[in-house]
Amino acid sequence: MTRVAFIGLGNMGSGMAANQAKAGREVFAFDLSADAMARAKEQGMTPAASAADAVKDADIVITMLPAGSHVRDVYMSTILPNAPKDALLIDCSTIDVDSARTVARDASMQGFRAADAPVSGGTAAATGGTLTFMVGCREQDFAEIEDALKPMSKATIHAGDSGAGQAAKICNNMLLGISMIGVSEAFALAEGLGLDPQKFFDIASKASGQCWSLTSYCPWPGPVPAAPSNRDYEGGFAAAMMLKDLRLAQEAADISGAPTPLGSAAEALYSELVDRGHPNKDFSAILQMLRGRL
Ligand code: NAD
Repeated sequence: MTRVAFIGLGNMGSGMAANQAKAGREVFAFDLSADAMARAKEQGMTPAASAADAVKDADIVITMLPAGSHVRDVYMSTILPNAPKDALLIDCSTIDVDSARTVARDASMQGFRAADAPVSGGTAAATGGTLTFMVGCREQDFAEIEDALKPMSKATIHAGDSGAGQAAKICNNMLLGISMIGVSEAFALAEGLGLDPQKFFDIASKASGQCWSLTSYCPWPGPVPAAPSNRDYEGGFAAAMMLKDLRLAQEAADISGAPTPLGSAAEALYSELVDRGHPNKDFSAILQMLRGRL
């Protein structure tokens, strides 16, 4: 039986790890939170006494942690010293490109195969096993990584070498943040001009303004019934998470020298939404801030 060590059983990790267990793999689970460990046991996983204990006999080690500092710490202090050298190491957290490359380089120097594999999709996709993974790894390791991720994924795409998965993730989410603000500004202007928002949606969704933020996730309540805008912007992709990704994009832009004036403006606007006390609202609530309602 394939043995999976899963470290980080939070909002995303608990559903992802449960899907590994459902696929018939033996999951050794570890989290600093006692509640998360109790939930893991209920979901058919083996709670490990420590992260070192979780990884010591693993075929696959998966991490789903908050940020780069956590991933670097867990890799350096626990995974690299304790995991078997033939274990496949996959970090699914969203972290900065430099941390991803550092961790992969150190892992590879010690003889491990390692990948960064951040995800697109929120907690519903984590629970449903329908995440999209963007993978940075050596070409020759990809097939095995794709197989390791299969119980949690609807699609797995090889983005390039180490760090390329994180690069793809932050570029995509920067684009998403910018496009959501663009759509929201257009609705706010349409409203200011006395144009019926539904009419604007009907026209723009069939014209050159069409994009995912408009037609799949419309920030104006009504035109897209499944969008969080119809439930007071609750239960979607939190503004604080969008801000985290926009900050990672800006750090990466500073380091690489890439010009991202709209990414920078998007970071400032989401920072304002969070500072106004709405970190948990769906990121499409930016429309209500622009309209002066939040
Ligand atoms: P979370 O805060 O709910 O979970 C993180 C878990 O890691 C917590 O349970 C925490 O106790 C645990 N943890 C922290 N340090 C640890 C350590 N040293 N050892 C063991 N466990 C430790 O976060 P989340 O929402 O599950 O997100 C995880 C990652 O996924 C983040 O990088 C996030 O950016 C990314 N992500 C989240 C979403 C989302 O919708 N929540 C979507 C895509 C990507």
